[in-house]
Amino acid sequence: MQTKMLINGEMVEGQGDALPVLDPSTGETVAHVPEATPEQIEAATRAAHEAFDTYRLVTPAERSGYLHTIADVMEENTDELSELETLDVGKPWPMARDEEMPLTIDTFRFMAGASRTISGSVAGEYAAGHTSMIRKDPIGPVASIAPWNYPLMMAAWKIAAPLAAGCTIVMKPSEITPLATLRLAELLADVLPKGVLNVVHGRGMSVGDSLINDPRIEGISITGSPATGMAAMRAASNQIRHVHLELGGKAPVIVFNDADIDAVAETIRYGSFFNAGQDCAQPCRVMVQDDVYDKVVAAVADQVAQIRIGAPKADGTEMGPIVSTAQRDRVAGFVDRARSSAEIAVGGKVGEGEGFFYQPTVVANVDNNAEIACSEVFGPVVTLSRFTEADEALRIANAGRYGLASSVWTKDVSTAMKMAARLRYGMTWVNTHGMPAAEMPWAAMKGSGTGCDMSVYALDAYTSVRHVMVAH
Ligand code: NAD
Repeated sequence: MQTKMLINGEMVEGQGDALPVLDPSTGETVAHVPEATPEQIEAATRAAHEAFDTYRLVTPAERSGYLHTIADVMEENTDELSELETLDVGKPWPMARDEEMPLTIDTFRFMAGASRTISGSVAGEYAAGHTSMIRKDPIGPVASIAPWNYPLMMAAWKIAAPLAAGCTIVMKPSEITPLATLRLAELLADVLPKGVLNVVHGRGMSVGDSLINDPRIEGISITGSPATGMAAMRAASNQIRHVHLELGGKAPVIVFNDADIDAVAETIRYGSFFNAGQDCAQPCRVMVQDDVYDKVVAAVADQVAQIRIGAPKADGTEMGPIVSTAQRDRVAGFVDRARSSAEIAVGGKVGEGEGFFYQPTVVANVDNNAEIACSEVFGPVVTLSRFTEADEALRIANAGRYGLASSVWTKDVSTAMKMAARLRYGMTWVNTHGMPAAEMPWAAMKGSGTGCDMSVYALDAYTSVRHVMVAH
C-alpha cells in the first residue's frame, strides 16, 4: 500500500505520528500512514512557492497538456484507484468505479479545456493616450484541503482548477481516507514539474492548520465542514488570503401536489442513500404539499425499505457502511433525538456486523423546525415534513443556514420557475436532484460556502483580475 507523501517531486515517508486507516465495512485497520511534520509541511509549501515562479508562466496549452495527462494516468489506473476509494470509504465497488471515477477523470479533461479559455476583456483606451488591458493571472500557491466522503473526486476538484489557472498546490486529503489520493500523488510524481503538486498527510488540527497558516500560501481552498471553513477564514484574515469554501448542505426537496411521486421516491432511494447519504447535496429534507403527503411517505418508505446494505463488493449491495464509528454515532444521535417527536417509518438502527453500518432511515412527520430537519446529518437518513402554500415552503427552505443544493418537483412550469428564481441555494434542480455536469458549477451560497467547484467559474477562485496600462 502506498503511504508516502509527494513533496517537491519526491515520494517521502511522513516523519510524524502514524495514523490508522480503517476499512469501514469490517472495522479492520488496513494501513498506518505517518503524517507530515512541521518541517515537511514547510518543505511542501516552499516547493509550491518556488515552483510557482515558473509554473505561472507556462502556456495554457502546456497546462492543458498536463491536465490531459493526469486524466490519462487516472484512466489507466481506474481499477486500482477505485479499489482504494472503496477500501477507504466503504463505497459499493460498482459506484466507485463506474459512477464516481468517470466524473473524477472528466474534471481533469474539462479543466484541460478550461485552462485555454482564461482571458481578460479586450484592450481599449480609457484614458487619452493610454491603452489598458485586463489580465487574469494565477493567485499563487494554494492549500487544497479535501474531505472524506468522495476523497478522490474532491481531490480532483481541488487540484484540476488551480492547475488550470496556473497555481501550484499543497494538497491534504482527509486523514481518515488518504489512500487513493496518496497513490494518485505517486502516479503523478513524474507527470508534473517538481513542486507544482505536493501532497501531505495528516490531521486537520495539526497538518491542516499549519498549512493554511503558512506565509507562502496565497489561497486556501477547502471542502469540508462549516467549522473548518471558519478556521480557514480566520487563518486567511491573519495574512489577507483568498479563500474558497465548499461546506455542508441540507438540501430541501420541495414536492408539490402535482409532482410525479414515483419519480420523487426513486430519486430519494438513489440520491439520498448513494455513498450512504454522506453527500453535501443529499436530497434529505423532503417537504411535501399537504394533499400528497401520505402518498409520498408511503412511496419513499417502500423504496427505501428495499435498499440492500452490505459489503462493498458483495453482490447486489446498494449501500455500504458509514465511514467511521464517530460518524455513525453522530447519525444515530440525530435519529435518536428525533424519536420522541417524529415517526421512524423505515430503519433507525445500527446495521449488523463489525462494520460501521447504519440502516437506511426514513423519518416522517418531522416538524420543519426540528433539529433533524435543519441540521446536516450526513448519513443515510431522510426526513419528511409538510407544507401548504408555495410561499410557506420557500420561507422554510430559505430560512436554513445552508445554501448548496435544492430541488422542486412539479409539472407546472410557472411554479417551477418561480421557486427556482426565489430559492437561495447555489443549485436548484427541477424534477430531478443532484445531477452533476463538469461544465456546470457546484455552487455554494450562505453557510455552504463561497464560490463554486467545476465549470469555468471555478477558475475565479484561483485567478486575480489585473489592469495593465501602456502610455503612448
Ligand atoms: P472536516 O471539515 O472535518 O474535514 C475536511 C478537511 O479539513 C479534512 O482534510 C480535515 O483534516 C481538514 N481540517 C479539519 N480541521 C481543519 C483545520 N482547523 N485547519 C485545516 N484543515 C482542517 O469535514 P469532513 O468531515 O471531512 O467532511 C464532511 C463535510 O464536508 C460535510 O459538512 C459535507 O457537507 C462537506 N462537503 C461539502 C462538499 C461541497 O461541495 N460543498 C462536498 C463534500 C463534502
